[in-house]
Amino acid sequence: MKVDRSEKVDSQSVKMEGATGCSVRWLINDTDGAPNFAMRQFAVEPDGHTPKHSHPYEHEVYVLSGNGVVLEGDQEHPIGAGDFIYVRPDEIHQFRNTGTAPLTFLCMVPHIPKDTRAQALPECEQTSSELK
Ligand SMILES: [Zn+2]
Repeated sequence: MKVDRSEKVDSQSVKMEGATGCSVRWLINDTDGAPNFAMRQFAVEPDGHTPKHSHPYEHEVYVLSGNGVVLEGDQEHPIGAGDFIYVRPDEIHQFRNTGTAPLTFLCMVPHIPKDTRAQALPECEQTSSELK
């Protein structure tokens, strides 16, 4: 068992093309021996956003704090603390902070084979392994 506090986990800047003001803490990962899923905690600064991207695996997201929108393609859904979001495989999605405080959320993903990493949309121009 692992019991710990999120603020003790290193916060890493998300460097994927198209990401602005995003950081991530990998709370639970395969390095912990978790066989199937990773739990990540994201923080998006005001006016920041994740890349608009898609990938062949799902996201399971729970919003902890702040206010923003999640884009499902070009459709915006307002989100705030207590909301949860299921991003289906291959759905184009993006998280944007529209508030004045950090938008923080948990995002669970399966461990991902190297050939199925996230693909940014053309506006983001390249793929990266920085954001899964
Ligand atoms: Zn994604």
